[in-house]
Amino acid sequence: MPGQTATTICPYCGVGCGLRVDVAGGRVVRVRGDDAHPGTQGKLCRKAVYLPHAVYGEGRLEYPLMRETRDAVRRETTWDDALGRAAAQLQLIIDEHGPDSVAFYVSGQLLTEDYYVVNKLAKGFLGTNNLDSNSRLCMASAVVAYQLALGQDGPPCAYADIDEADCFLFVGSNAADCHPVLFQRALARKAARPNDVSVIVVDPRRTPTARAADIHLQLQPGTDVPLLLCMLNILICEQLVDREFIDTHTNGWQTVAEAAAEWPVERAARVTGVPAELILRAARAFGQAPASLSFWAMGVNQATDGVDRSLALINLHLATGQIGRPGAGPFSLTGQPNAMGGREVGGLAALLPGYRMVNDAQHRQEMADLWDIPVDRLNPKPGLTGVEMFEALADGRLKAIWIAGTNPAASMPSLETVRRGLERAELVVVQDAYFPTETALLADIVLPAAQWAEKEGTTTSSERRVSYMPRLVAPPGLARPDWLIFAELAQLLGYTAGDFDFGTAEDVFDEFRRCTAGTSVDITGLSYARLRNEGGVQWPCPVGAASGVARLYTDHHFSTPDGRARFHRPTWREPVAAEGRWVLNTGRERDQWHTMTRTGRVPQLLKSCPEPYIGIHPDDAQLLQLSEGDSLEVLGDARGRARFNTRITADVLPGTVYVPFHWGTLRYSGGSVNESTTSELDPRSKQPALKLTRVHIRRVA
Ligand code: SF4
Repeated sequence: MPGQTATTICPYCGVGCGLRVDVAGGRVVRVRGDDAHPGTQGKLCRKAVYLPHAVYGEGRLEYPLMRETRDAVRRETTWDDALGRAAAQLQLIIDEHGPDSVAFYVSGQLLTEDYYVVNKLAKGFLGTNNLDSNSRLCMASAVVAYQLALGQDGPPCAYADIDEADCFLFVGSNAADCHPVLFQRALARKAARPNDVSVIVVDPRRTPTARAADIHLQLQPGTDVPLLLCMLNILICEQLVDREFIDTHTNGWQTVAEAAAEWPVERAARVTGVPAELILRAARAFGQAPASLSFWAMGVNQATDGVDRSLALINLHLATGQIGRPGAGPFSLTGQPNAMGGREVGGLAALLPGYRMVNDAQHRQEMADLWDIPVDRLNPKPGLTGVEMFEALADGRLKAIWIAGTNPAASMPSLETVRRGLERAELVVVQDAYFPTETALLADIVLPAAQWAEKEGTTTSSERRVSYMPRLVAPPGLARPDWLIFAELAQLLGYTAGDFDFGTAEDVFDEFRRCTAGTSVDITGLSYARLRNEGGVQWPCPVGAASGVARLYTDHHFSTPDGRARFHRPTWREPVAAEGRWVLNTGRERDQWHTMTRTGRVPQLLKSCPEPYIGIHPDDAQLLQLSEGDSLEVLGDARGRARFNTRITADVLPGTVYVPFHWGTLRYSGGSVNESTTSELDPRSKQPALKLTRVHIRRVA
């Protein structure tokens, strides 16, 4: 069979790099960057290069697996058998306990079409909002902050802004490892204008991103809000705020200015541990730059005050008018390839398609009309979020869970609760491209899903760019696209007659885009054909639009009822130091992705970090009489524990330890660090505070 080359999108991080893929003999054989991609212009990183190894690595799931009882061995079976039993059991549970006794936990890895069908089934037809995504762990705090400050979700910036920015402020983002193509672009901007462009990094760890910065503000964990308020205070004191912008385009300034005044630089320096001189330099660089661009990620979002931190960062932009113009804006980085698409399609427990909210009566009516269902079928109460779902399984409130494209038995905090929940559930269905995973090993029914290059659909990158991903090769065995599995489940549950009989992924996309008409995320002007031709378009793009929109709010009219952006006074609760406890910080390694379901199967990607470790400061190592490689056990409040080899490094602050979270129990016999991480949530975003857990550590033989 002759080979062919096609263009598609990388399925790993939210940068969404355009790829050129060689296919031969029905297999993907080579991946390069796509020079013609409008967002990323041919750039890519190592994870994408090794995609063929991941797709054809060991452990692809080809057939449905099922076990009759919890003690029985799983056996291969047919789709009719597996999906039929799943549907029948789900219906029994709903009949007995009501629709809110079941939940769907899905993934930012899913395509928009996959998300749309499962969301429509759960919220529109089953009548439960218990549908949430692993994106909850990634950027839920940023979503809430955007909604509060700007009136709607959605990063207002474009990657092209990197080429026009004069100051880069990375907060809680190790972009050098986690969003490498964007970070390299920022460094290229810096290299081109070394005296005019500054790079500031706020992070308690000296990450590769921090090492490349002009200014590294190595703050004490949990002190982001004081630092950002202090920066605002300096901007005010040195008259670097834009009074005209504040007066004309915002509300709430006075209360935020008062909050900032509480943080003179001396106090902030004492609390954050960052020298006053560095805070001053950073604030001035931000305030004096013609264009300042902020990036933030999980170091901000994964905290009990994640929304406050995000708001404090957005406040800096509103105070200086650094939004809605080239090179400027608060730019939340999404971790996953389609976390953005999931938000647009309503794939979080409080959302409906088109950035609608379940608790808004008009939004429910609009969706009821679009789905042609009685409006009272749509539940006004937000559903359970990710962490809450597993707690509800563990205490018996939830009876069944359907998990797609994610591995919560390795990625969630407090893993013992997750396992207990899955063991107690009456029905656990997992749909994945690989077997085993830590989660699939606890499932009653495991369904084989097609993955990247094996199904078509769309994703949205961090810069709101909707891109088309073609089906380039056949999936292995009986694996099917996720949207099709959900559509067939819906039909088995009795919903047919025009509701779920989609013939193709394009049918699903066409129905979804109709749902966006007149919303802020209007993509009615897009089609598969257009996306193929143009290589990705940034929303909004309504019918008749000649192009997408690179940058939101260029007219400084925001999505609030009065068109003004809103300052919010961020609150800060001082982290409570606990005797004998250490602050555990978790994070990512350059060549790994999530729980290694894919990247862990690629030997080349394991070389740079073959196993997890615990990073500890040299002073602490001396105090504990530790040597490099000594085994340390980590114990949190959760019952689980794990052990790691010591890596002595001045990259972490004294009193803190760092462990990469990728390794679950299948890949590392010492256990997962998430045995110990906290399941405390930000009260507004319900995002778990994975970045700051108080733990005990002890040396073990
Ligand atoms: S930067 Fe992200 S999207 Fe781009 S190639 Fe790397 S993992 Fe893929």
